[in-house]
Amino acid sequence: MNSYAKRVLDELIRKNPNEPEFHQAATEILESLSLVIDRHPEYEKVGLLERLVEPDRIIMFRVPWVDDEGNVHVNKGYRVQFNSAIGPYKGGLRFHPSVNLSILKFLGFEQIFKNSLTGLPIGGGKGGSDFDPKGKSDNEIMRFCQAFMSEMFRHIGANTDVPAGDIGVGGREIGYLFGYYKKLANEYTGVLTGRGIVYGGSLVRTEATGYGLVYLVDEMMRCNGHSVKGKKVVISGSGNVAIYANQKITALGAKVVAMSDSNGYIYHEKGIDLEYIKQLKEVERKRIKEYTVKYPDAVYTEGCKNIWNVPCDIALPCATQNELDDNAARTLIANGVIAVGEGANMPTTMAATDEFLKAGVLFAPGKAANAGGVATSALEMAQSSQRIYWSFEEVDSRLRNIMVEIFHNIDKAAKEYGMPNNFVIGANIAGFEKVSQAMLRQGIV
Ligand code: NDP
Repeated sequence: MNSYAKRVLDELIRKNPNEPEFHQAATEILESLSLVIDRHPEYEKVGLLERLVEPDRIIMFRVPWVDDEGNVHVNKGYRVQFNSAIGPYKGGLRFHPSVNLSILKFLGFEQIFKNSLTGLPIGGGKGGSDFDPKGKSDNEIMRFCQAFMSEMFRHIGANTDVPAGDIGVGGREIGYLFGYYKKLANEYTGVLTGRGIVYGGSLVRTEATGYGLVYLVDEMMRCNGHSVKGKKVVISGSGNVAIYANQKITALGAKVVAMSDSNGYIYHEKGIDLEYIKQLKEVERKRIKEYTVKYPDAVYTEGCKNIWNVPCDIALPCATQNELDDNAARTLIANGVIAVGEGANMPTTMAATDEFLKAGVLFAPGKAANAGGVATSALEMAQSSQRIYWSFEEVDSRLRNIMVEIFHNIDKAAKEYGMPNNFVIGANIAGFEKVSQAMLRQGIV
């Protein structure tokens, strides 16, 4: 690693102990950027990396709410406004018991580069709460969202910070959050994305991350002499990203044989019935193991980590961070995997990524592969500010073009720095270039 990047990383670890996910993301990115830093000694003179790894600000707050039985609960609320060099902070809200500052800083940091890769004017941020939406009634979810927004509303705005959904924050939660923002701020602006179509949302936003992932993987495979058609696919997760990745890759002629939730995974040799998964997960909010009630020929295995034992040509980890480790990577490689596309953020550990790169597996890192969600959020922002709507076909075609372009940009950056087919390095460098240029020109702020 370049000595300046190493010094910044050491200092970051010293100043932010107990933040392993943030250390992991920063290590990966600073390692990749070493090649660029070597060529730009001027960055050190203006403390560019020190400024890049320190969020502009972090807002932490109390979220008190009352459940249906009248009991009072207190959760932690966060918004990490990481970097606004190229546009207003943009990034999702995650509601999950595992949420803490380390996870949100890793996600916010990654978001800077991802948003830059989209080519659209959006900075990086992330937020959320350790609240667990599972098992809560609609009224409890609404009261929690209102309590969360009662503090967050003063820190966000259509030109300041535009949150969206993430794990545990889907259409229902965005609706409650938006309704309360509108009431408190007394203005109707595109302050959240992922809104329902009837109140200012964009067509394709729901499908965008999953579709975008498949568009990028398809392009990556095509440019390397493969095709998605006829391939066997394993997708972890059964949430928003996983469901629409399944829908698009199936439409392109592949067969998805396994999906999971946090309890376990199902394997269905004939190919998974996605409509039934949608019914179970989106409508009935049930566990994936219920799939075998309708399909007794499918096999359910308790524990989600072993999903990677299922042989496949394409693996799409779409659940959560660090869900695919080096053991799983070696199993996938031994089973002949051709391509891996990260639908989730940092689902693959660093050791697993190294295994894939060493074995010559085509590996699309999350900050490029799952950028379709935020790109379509930016398209939603564009439509909101013009007060117009584009058709499904128009948004979908823009999304596809953005993903194809992202692939070619990261491919080009990887080649330019002598690391062909290393799309991890390519994505970090291509994402960094625009942000660093913007920071350089805006002075020491
Ligand atoms: P959802 O909440 O819709 O779905 C998450 C899925 O992952 C569920 O199947 C969930 O299972 C599973 N999961 C969650 N946490 C864990 C865990 N700790 N261990 C195992 N499985 C887990 O989230 P999304 O689909 O929106 O997000 C998935 C990933 O994609 C996240 O990493 C997110 O940051 C990333 N992402 C999402 C974008 C979007 O537009 N939605 C954009 C870019 C990235 P269960 O139902 O049991 O909880």
